[in-house]
Amino acid sequence: MKKIELLAPAGNLEKAKIAILYGADAVYIGGKQFSLRSRASNFTLEDIRELVQFANEHHAHVHVTVNMLPHPDDLEGLKDYLLALDAIEVHAIIVASPAIMRMAKQLGCCFEVHVSTQHSTTNAQAVSFWKKQGMDRVVLARECGLEQIRDICEQKILPIEVFIHGGMCISYSGRCVLSNHMTLRDANRGGCAQSCRWKYHLMENNKEISIPKNLFSMSSKDLQAVPFIQDFIKMGVASLKIEGRMKSAYYLATVVSSYRHLIDWIYEHGDVSDDIIQRVQNEIAKAENRPTGPGFYRGMPDEKVQLYQDHDEIVTQEYVAFVLEYNAEDKKALLQVKNKFFPNTQVEIFGPHIKSTPFQIGSIFDLDGNRLDVCNKPMQIVQTIWDGPIEKNAMIRKRGESINEIK
Ligand code: SF4
Repeated sequence: MKKIELLAPAGNLEKAKIAILYGADAVYIGGKQFSLRSRASNFTLEDIRELVQFANEHHAHVHVTVNMLPHPDDLEGLKDYLLALDAIEVHAIIVASPAIMRMAKQLGCCFEVHVSTQHSTTNAQAVSFWKKQGMDRVVLARECGLEQIRDICEQKILPIEVFIHGGMCISYSGRCVLSNHMTLRDANRGGCAQSCRWKYHLMENNKEISIPKNLFSMSSKDLQAVPFIQDFIKMGVASLKIEGRMKSAYYLATVVSSYRHLIDWIYEHGDVSDDIIQRVQNEIAKAENRPTGPGFYRGMPDEKVQLYQDHDEIVTQEYVAFVLEYNAEDKKALLQVKNKFFPNTQVEIFGPHIKSTPFQIGSIFDLDGNRLDVCNKPMQIVQTIWDGPIEKNAMIRKRGESINEIK
């Protein structure tokens, strides 16, 4: 049986490599042109080439979003861009515009063409339509329920990709013009200003019904589909997609490694218990900055899945250092400081091959050997002796109240 794919977002080369190292089977990225989330897309063709090489070395794939809904002027240079991606040997492009789909197929490119979620595909007939157009995979709308996804997968028309984690639109995804209306920034050309998350005065018959200190917003909770991963595997879903090309490397490492451990656990042991699900959710919560919910997977979302008054993002746990190098012989670790922390404090380390493990960090020294009382200069390189689980590319965070390992 082909193992389900874990597909992670990446806003730059560093994040893409972290996502692969922490267990993503594939990453999706945007180039400088023809991609939504243009602010999140800073991959040059050279970056994409380097990433494909890195991905090949780690048996991973690279998908490139070419999912803008282009107006005629936007199409200039598209043919050359597609041919360049084909020459780089990306695995797939993710497309919303029929014009781009047709051009990719007419050019005879070797990469797969995946139908973007921007098309709001919600039923098997629509998937059949895309198959007739020569498409290779469909990313379903985030508004599909579990039974709808099961029904579509049972018909085995095309490989199916579903979202499992990250931001949700309060409107129907890909159909929102709120940002266009409020700011003239086109959500379907990569410019969404997230106007739904602003705070509004709520009026009824010229009378304000919002509380001045607690203005109304229309944001929804982020999606978190940990309890449904086993269902998706049983249904025969091809790929599980994490949203968030703007998210940090720390967030990606935490979320990707948590889902990686869960997927591997299910393939190895079978049925997953509530206890395991809770542990994975607790692990993911260490990097979450917004409340999460089941999206549409438990049926039509009710008011518990909305954030009518919440807006601000909260940082739940601080990421303090990244492991640049480790020498197993003299146990010397070279760390890059990310946030303020003190020597001799309790931390937690996790890495590409290390599950979250508590540890007491010892004395810290700068590169000249001077002992430091505090590490409070972001990006400073410091050193310490680490006599516990550690590896290059591991991340260190302040320790939460509980350590949640999948055993
Ligand atoms: S304004 Fe909100 S609902 Fe509309 S596209 Fe942007 S994030 Fe989605």
